[in-house]
Amino acid sequence: MELLEAIKWAGVVGEGGAGFPTYAKLNTRAECFIVNGAECEPLIETDKYLMRTFPEEIIAGTAAVSAHLGAKRTVVALKEKYEAEAAALSAAIEKSGADIEIVKMPAFYPAGDEHTMVYYVTGRSIPARGIPISVGCVVDNVGTMRSVHEALEGRQVTDKYLSVTGAVREPVMLRVPVGTSFRECVALAGTKLSEYAVINGGPMMGLVLSEKEKIDAAVVTKTTGNILVLPPDHYLVGRSKLKMQRIRLQSRSACIQCRYCTDLCPRWLIGQEMEPHMVMRGLWMEGQIKDDAEFVRAFGDAMNCCSCGICELYACPMNLSPRRVNEYFKGVLRSRGLESPVDPHPEARGSFSDRLIPTERLVARLGLRDYYPGHAERCLEYQPRTVYIPFRQSIGRAAEAVVAEGAAVRRGDLLAKAAEGLSSNIYASIDGTVRDISVQGARIVSGV
Ligand code: SF4
Ligand code: SF4
Repeated sequence: MELLEAIKWAGVVGEGGAGFPTYAKLNTRAECFIVNGAECEPLIETDKYLMRTFPEEIIAGTAAVSAHLGAKRTVVALKEKYEAEAAALSAAIEKSGADIEIVKMPAFYPAGDEHTMVYYVTGRSIPARGIPISVGCVVDNVGTMRSVHEALEGRQVTDKYLSVTGAVREPVMLRVPVGTSFRECVALAGTKLSEYAVINGGPMMGLVLSEKEKIDAAVVTKTTGNILVLPPDHYLVGRSKLKMQRIRLQSRSACIQCRYCTDLCPRWLIGQEMEPHMVMRGLWMEGQIKDDAEFVRAFGDAMNCCSCGICELYACPMNLSPRRVNEYFKGVLRSRGLESPVDPHPEARGSFSDRLIPTERLVARLGLRDYYPGHAERCLEYQPRTVYIPFRQSIGRAAEAVVAEGAAVRRGDLLAKAAEGLSSNIYASIDGTVRDISVQGARIVSGV
C-alpha cells in the first residue's frame, strides 16, 4: 500500500498534540522534516519510553516519511539530557544507514512547541498563525512515526502508550486499548489519594479534570499521552477553576505592566506579533471600543497565542492570566469576524536564547517538585473488560459508524469510517459486543 493510503487506512493521527490526521499533514513535499522528541512538558514520560524502546521502528517510519516528502534534511530533535534516548536512536540510524541527524536542545519549556522547534532547528520563524510548511518544514512526533511504521506493516491504531505520573505510588507506562477509562489507568499506577483530580496531558497545556463525573467519563484516545494525577486542592487544579469574569476584573486592577509576560512569551521571542501585556493594558477599555480596526489594534495579538501558559503559570508576578484573557479575546474576535494582520517574514528577537525557561525552575514554580522527575521505568499491558471508543479522536469530523448495536467485533475491526474531509478511521480495540452506539461513539463489552 502507498504511504498516505496506509496511514489513512490505519487511522494514524498526530500523537503529540491536537491530533491532526497524519495522511493530511503529509500530503505535501517539504525541504526539512523534523521529528519531535522533545517531550517539553515536565512529568510526561511517553515519548522518552518510545524512543528507548522502539528506536528502530521510529527511524524506519521517519525514513519512509522523509522519502515521501522529498526532504533534503531530516532531523530528530530532542533534549540533550535524553542521553539514553539519543543513544538508542543513533544506533538505529547507524544500523539503517538513513541520512537522519539528531539535534539536541537544552532542557527548556516549550522546546516541543512546533514554532519554537522549527526556529531552533532551522533558524526560520514561522509567521503567526502559520504552520511549519510555510517555511518549508513538516514536524511530526516520535510516537506518530512509530504508528506510521505500524501502518506500513499493516497494523491499525487500536492501542495507546501513555504514562501515568504525579501523585501515584509508582509512575508507570501503560499500553492499553483505546477507550480504556482513566480510572482504570490511575488504578494501575496506584494512588494513596481517596479523591484526586487529573490532567489529561502535561501541567502547562493539559486539560484539568476535577469533577468526579468528568473523570469517570474520561477515556484514553489516540492522542492521550499522559495522565497526571494531583490532589484536588493542588494549585494547578484551583487555578483552572477561576471564572473568566474574575480573571478580567483582577487583570484590570492588578496588571502592573511589567511586561514579563511579553518578554518570556515564546511566540514574541521568535518574532511574531504577540504582546500579551498590551492586550492586558487594553482590557479596561474593552467596552468602549466600537470601531473594528481599533479593536483589532488593541486585542488582535490574542489570535496569535498558542496557549503555552508561560505568561500565566510562570512569568506574571501578580498571578494574572494573560493566556485566559487571550483565549477570551480570540472568541470575541472570531464572533465579530475580525482578523489581525500578520508579518509574513517575522524575525526572532535577539533575546531568544537568554529567555528560555529551564524545566527544573518551571517544575518548582508549578508546585510539582514532589513528583518530579517521576521516571516511569515499567510498562504494564492491560486488557479492560469494557471500552468506550469516541468516533472523533482527531481534528476534523467524527468518523461514521459502520457497525450496529449488538454486533460482535474483533480487535482491529473497523468500527467507524473516516468522514469526508478531515477525519480518521476508528477501530475496535478489544474483542466483544457493540453497546450504546451513537454518533459520538460506541461501547464494546467483552465476553457478551
Ligand atoms: S506579567 Fe502580569 S503584571 Fe506584568 S504585564 Fe503581564 S499581565 Fe501585567
Ligand atoms: S500563553 Fe502567554 S506566553 Fe504563551 S503564547 Fe500565549 S501569550 Fe505567549
